[in-house]
Amino acid sequence: MVPLRWGLLLGCLGSALGPGAQAQFPRVCMTVGSLQAKECCPPLGAEPSNVCGSLEGRGRCAEVQADTRPWSGPYVLRNQDDRERWPRKFFDRTCRCTGPGRPYKAIDFSHQGPAFVTWHRYHLLWLERALQRLTGNESFAVPYWNFATGKNACDVCTDQLLGAARPDDPTLISRNSRFSSWEIVCDSLDDYNRRVTLCNGTYEGLLRRNQVGRNSEKLPSLKDIEDCLSLKQFDNPPFFQNSTFSFRNALEGFDKADGTLDSQVMSLHNLVHSFLNGTSALPHSAANDPVFVVLHSFTDAIFDEWMKRFSPPVDAWPQELAPIGHNRMYNMVPFFPPVTNEELFLTADQLGYSYAIDLPVSVEGTPDWTTTLSVVGMLVVLVGLSALLLFLQYRRLRKGYTPLMETQLSNKRYTEEA
Ligand code: ZN
Repeated sequence: MVPLRWGLLLGCLGSALGPGAQAQFPRVCMTVGSLQAKECCPPLGAEPSNVCGSLEGRGRCAEVQADTRPWSGPYVLRNQDDRERWPRKFFDRTCRCTGPGRPYKAIDFSHQGPAFVTWHRYHLLWLERALQRLTGNESFAVPYWNFATGKNACDVCTDQLLGAARPDDPTLISRNSRFSSWEIVCDSLDDYNRRVTLCNGTYEGLLRRNQVGRNSEKLPSLKDIEDCLSLKQFDNPPFFQNSTFSFRNALEGFDKADGTLDSQVMSLHNLVHSFLNGTSALPHSAANDPVFVVLHSFTDAIFDEWMKRFSPPVDAWPQELAPIGHNRMYNMVPFFPPVTNEELFLTADQLGYSYAIDLPVSVEGTPDWTTTLSVVGMLVVLVGLSALLLFLQYRRLRKGYTPLMETQLSNKRYTEEA
């Protein structure tokens, strides 16, 4: 079994029994009987016949559908990895959720492919739901960080927000921050692999970030977001980190923001991870840093804007030959009960939430007052032009002028890609 990544927030399969760990599989299904029967359909509440909440119309016990179409990419662990045909190594029958449609319905199997957007979206929805329950605040919502400042400093890395650097050791978090003694888990991948074990959630040191001596590095700009939002194609073969003119790959950050391939370059999402450095720089440990949440909710907001802008048909998502975990009907690992990529390929609206942001606000510059100014400026120019046109029309009518030439306006924008 290969260690699952992103262990912090999701918990790990194997750590279901460990103290302080959270499991994806319900504890009630972690019995010999359940595992032998390969069925996980517990009753909801005290009533034994309320299997999967069926009496309330919330779900029913059903055969797990697992994607069997071929996948692609550098995957050599066929029949060895428990995530294959998730979750059928463990369960053949599970609860299948029906409505009512709450967002909470329902490797690297979550990067370098189309599922990058849906996996992180579902992960955040799951986390948001957990935080709502933890705080007893049903209207709690995960905030986002507009990282597209083009600046060489992280503006949410302050003691009021996610923690400034510690003056005597800038790789650590300031003692004035609530995150100064934030411990990380599931960081020592090499150890687990050597010991053939899974992360069990024990503390492995302090959260680290490091921007020292990297003043030339800059966060993405609004122009980058605009470029990436102009890509009409959701993804392109081979649906991997070398796909070009793929919105997904540009947003994930393996291409330049405009979709052209440059293996040296990191952009958007990847660039932000690398910019933060330290715990955030590696996929398996990044979720330890609370910045992860706000970085990814903004990434999801960009994805949502793209969905609204292009209203893609469902077959914009490859049915087959994406890397493992990334085909349209693949059950996202390690979520349970099973939920496919397709079920999250919707606008946020359709899933029951929204972002209070308009993207992209403008090219370069700071939002808010500059935007307001430019809108006012454009209105003034428009009013002026209309007045001029009216005046010219009036003169033409009076003096019987005819235009010197017919003008034809093209509505093709110069930024449009062929
Ligand atoms: Zn990320």
